[in-house]
Amino acid sequence: MARATAAAQKKKKASKKRAAPKKGAAQKKPGLRKLKRVKKPALAAKPAKGIPDPKPTPRPTPDMSGRSLLPLNILLIGPPGAGKGTQAEKISSTFNIPHLSTGNLFRAAIKAGTELGKKVEPLLAAGKLVPDDVTIPIVDERLSQPDATQGVLFDGYPRTIPQAEALERTFERLGRKLNRVVLIEVPDSAIVARMSGRRSCPKDGSVYHVVANPPREPGKCDKCGTDLVTRPDDQPETVQGRLNTYTAQTAPLIAYYEPKGLLARVDGVRTPDQVFESIHSGLRR
Ligand SMILES: [Zn+2]
Repeated sequence: MARATAAAQKKKKASKKRAAPKKGAAQKKPGLRKLKRVKKPALAAKPAKGIPDPKPTPRPTPDMSGRSLLPLNILLIGPPGAGKGTQAEKISSTFNIPHLSTGNLFRAAIKAGTELGKKVEPLLAAGKLVPDDVTIPIVDERLSQPDATQGVLFDGYPRTIPQAEALERTFERLGRKLNRVVLIEVPDSAIVARMSGRRSCPKDGSVYHVVANPPREPGKCDKCGTDLVTRPDDQPETVQGRLNTYTAQTAPLIAYYEPKGLLARVDGVRTPDQVFESIHSGLRR
């Protein structure tokens, strides 16, 4: 009984304190106010004080959940202008796995002075295509390097079904497997719009975009004032041509990987961070 009385008195005091400055409000909705007052201290006030708030709540950052996904062998596919380079960098640094494009595979082989490197060098110098019987063993060799044992990110390789099949055999031989094929999807029209808005300074190479990164004075370089131009590479017809080549080249790869359940389609028409988030969750599935 004593307790109940004490509680009742407390309540009275409290309601007096609160009600005093705003009499009108208190009289209008007495029931609601009472209910709030009883619930608040019981539920909210105490735990807030009791828990010392150690570190900020650990958010599952890509880094944390990323390491648990290793080893992670990924293939990244996407049209020119889809921001593939940016995503490749993010993936590579998040998971700490090397980013392997045919270009840097060849350069590494040349630098290492291997037999294969010696075969590649004259071909590249002459601007010739490096045949599969040279490319495939270079990839094999690279996959065996110590920094690649936790995984690799392939970018622009494999490009053909024979290369894809060869890669599969290599992984098998090494007791590994390709975990995911990430396909960044951007409609052709969006790519053309992105690329055809680019303006370049013919003098110093500065690049602008009429929408995303306009120069201070329209059509003039911020640095040197030279008239900006649309490079031939960025002309809509050229862009569309490259996209057609990409689509023709990629379609068989998609048809190869999709039935194996390896393909993760990612919507590339968003900010780089949003795209990366989707890639990351695609890798976890
Ligand atoms: Zn300039």
